[in-house]
Amino acid sequence: MSSQRLDDATAPCTFCRIIQSDAEDVRDFGTMVAFLDAYPVSQGHFLVVPKRHLADYFELSDIELGDSNRALRDLRANLLMVDSTITGFNVGVNCGTAAGQTVEHAHIHLIPRRQGDTPNPRGGVRGVIPAKMSY
Ligand code: 5GP
Ligand code: ZN
Repeated sequence: MSSQRLDDATAPCTFCRIIQSDAEDVRDFGTMVAFLDAYPVSQGHFLVVPKRHLADYFELSDIELGDSNRALRDLRANLLMVDSTITGFNVGVNCGTAAGQTVEHAHIHLIPRRQGDTPNPRGGVRGVIPAKMSY
């Protein structure tokens, strides 16, 4: 699959537009950026996104993966500092339509979790297939 260039002004990609504009609070992590999810699963839900338009997580270079880890750790530390109700996190990536990906620009979800935010959190990301969440 070919990757569009970020500077392609005709690119209709939502995340490319966010990265290129000043419209949203976009935090810089070298080759990556992070911004709040517009339809958050929980308060403080961030997306960590490459500046390059790439299809999904598996197209990230080693440098982008390193910057992603730095972003995830920094964001996590900052969230824990400002919000004492956060007691856990889910880190998740949807790769491909079958796996639930809706925006065709690679991204990693960082989702803060709080005690009692769902009746039975056991299984976490196993919930991508709801019937298999509990085991
Ligand atoms: P996916 O389903 O592809 O893994 O996740 C895409 C995420 O992008 C969703 O959680 C969705 O809420 C978020 N999203 C979709 N459109 C926008 C947007 O215009 N701005 C922001 N900040 N997030 C968006
Ligand atoms: Zn894009």
